Amino acid sequence: MPKQDERFHVWPRPQEMQIKGQPLSLRNPIGLSAQGEADWIQAAAEEAATVLNDAAGRTVVRPKGRSKTRLLVTDMTEPPRGMRAVKTREGYALSVSAQGIHLAGADPAGVYYGAQTLAQLLASEGGKALPAAQVRDWPRYPFRGVHLYMPAREHLDFFWRFLDFLAGLKCNTLFLETGGGMELEKHPEINRSWKKFCKEADSYDFDKDNKIPESKTSCFNARDWNKKGPVALQVSRYFAKDSTHTELAGGEWLTKDEVRLIVHECEKRHIEIIPEIQALSHSYYLCCAHPEIAEHHEDPWPDTYCPSNPKSYELWQDVADEIIEVVKPRFVSIGHDEAYTFRICPECRKRTAHEILADEITRNRDFLASRGVRTMMWGDKLMNITTPEGRRYGGIARRRTDPVSGKTWVQPATYKAADKVPDDVIMVDWYWGLDPKSERNFHKKGFEVVYGNFSPMRFENWESRADLPYVHGAEMSSWCGVTPYEFGHNGTFYQFFPGSDMLWNGRQMPKHQVAPLMARWMTPAVEKMTQQERWLVTGKPGNALTLDISEVAKEVPDDLKGKLKTGAEATTVLGTGPFHVLTDKRGAIERALCLAKADSAKRVSLPVGRKAKRVMVLHGTTMRDLFAQPTYYSYHRGPAEIVRYQITYADGKRDQFAGYFKDNVGRIDAPWPDGQHCFQAVPVEAGKGRTLYAFEWTNPRKDVPIESLTISLGPDASDEGEVVIAAVALVI
Ligand SMILES: [Zn+2]
Repeated sequence: MPKQDERFHVWPRPQEMQIKGQPLSLRNPIGLSAQGEADWIQAAAEEAATVLNDAAGRTVVRPKGRSKTRLLVTDMTEPPRGMRAVKTREGYALSVSAQGIHLAGADPAGVYYGAQTLAQLLASEGGKALPAAQVRDWPRYPFRGVHLYMPAREHLDFFWRFLDFLAGLKCNTLFLETGGGMELEKHPEINRSWKKFCKEADSYDFDKDNKIPESKTSCFNARDWNKKGPVALQVSRYFAKDSTHTELAGGEWLTKDEVRLIVHECEKRHIEIIPEIQALSHSYYLCCAHPEIAEHHEDPWPDTYCPSNPKSYELWQDVADEIIEVVKPRFVSIGHDEAYTFRICPECRKRTAHEILADEITRNRDFLASRGVRTMMWGDKLMNITTPEGRRYGGIARRRTDPVSGKTWVQPATYKAADKVPDDVIMVDWYWGLDPKSERNFHKKGFEVVYGNFSPMRFENWESRADLPYVHGAEMSSWCGVTPYEFGHNGTFYQFFPGSDMLWNGRQMPKHQVAPLMARWMTPAVEKMTQQERWLVTGKPGNALTLDISEVAKEVPDDLKGKLKTGAEATTVLGTGPFHVLTDKRGAIERALCLAKADSAKRVSLPVGRKAKRVMVLHGTTMRDLFAQPTYYSYHRGPAEIVRYQITYADGKRDQFAGYFKDNVGRIDAPWPDGQHCFQAVPVEAGKGRTLYAFEWTNPRKDVPIESLTISLGPDASDEGEVVIAAVALVI
């Protein structure tokens, strides 16, 4: 593929694209016309016009009425002149010239994706014109997916914006974990019990509620930061469990009509829902409502149902039927990850674990097949992995010790079930990082594979490893609430940028090339989804004014000397700013406001003496050992506050804002993103492998002069390292 002119940003990168010739002006609206034999062509054409008009924020395509210049939409019987047809599902051929646009789709999704490409081309010309382009494009993989929990009612508006983002990246699959989060008419007790379970888990206090000595608790050590909330509940007893997922549907449930709306909004964007209706493991939503089906009867919050109990199947099938009725899926995932609890009850003890598992999967698969639905499942318990270092993973036997009785027992092997499970079950392979041949090993048993928990920045050798006929794509996961903050804090947004490219065109861009693109293109996308309304993103309204910090600045720490190369006017990756910084002759930051715990002076005070709409700081840290957990493990405690900014107004009143690690302030000596996206800040490249973070605070009292700004370390700052503030600026 020829190197794409970055000005014409189309992402994921098309299979074939040429930009050449006179652009098409869109000063006057163009007319829509649909031609072709396919019965979907008119509706698809109107959809394309809507995508383009929405992207422009005005009418650039008139669905009706005459115009000499046209957006012509056809099926593939009539590709654009001089171009070969694209026959692959979801593919399109697009030609833009000064005379008009011809968009041909292999199917309605193809037309839709062609329109998404047009929308991006339009943005590259500032919304005023379309560059002359010839694009032939189609997806390499049919499953370009995302895993989410059922969103909570109060976050549906955000969810629609997120769906727009996914559609723009040509993602087409949503694995939607349903838990107890959809209204169940036949089993309302499951909804009620789900809500109760979530409340108990969220308010769980390990030190208070746990009755077993800490040394005798289950699979993990209870660390200080996970002694409250769902994770504390998980580790509190010797019953193996995981993945409580109380954020699902906000710990409540949506009505069926609300779920139908989700289905409708996904369909509009050509996103197919694959419900994940957990069976066997992580079945809290079933087992807490019906403890009689639990495999571990002593467990107050059982994770796993008894696969020998016919009532387990009846209940799960009732739930599945209601979800299938609402979602009408082609595929259902039956979960099955991290199943640890086998052969506890007398009935189960009569069979081997792999026989139990194979039988249980087959029964669920047969049930779904009877509903015309194909089964998917997490594949880990069907894997037999011993790493070169001798570590064992997946469905291999492991010795465990019961911390209460002291008895040792063996968590039985289950991997042999893979020989008996019907091979039309699609494996969601999320141990690809533990087994470099995971997909090949599944294929040996006859299975097709979709990678799960796909981490595009960590998956190596994608092009050689994944280019197999039985690999059908991947799903990128979120394991947190579907909220702007949680997606931001946990870095969820960013993986979709490289991931969508790999899944669409099959190519992998080296990390050092994709990271700067991510910083530039994802910042406005995140802005749109989170609605932060930042001056640092738009550069308006107002002008930036940098405060003089030379009186209170100190030399930067030794390890940063000569290395923070920004030039005297540092700007963000979006070109906003500038921040005037104190540099040496070579343009490296020499002096800044530096705060460390070891310093005698614990705060810096800066005179301001004027009104401001916003206060902006350009900061970063060299501190290590900062608390940096994602929300889903550390729910109760929130991010680390490492620096605090206090505003004193002329009338003596005060306000403040803070630098939270991984939200708006990150590590200086690491390239963006490297796990610290800081979604509330805009990155500033500060030399090779170094980053500063520009963060702004909106002043609620913009009509009152600010007298001074006092900066001190926050309560979570660590003992070693510093917080470095290279510039403070105002928007006036
Ligand atoms: Zn049993």
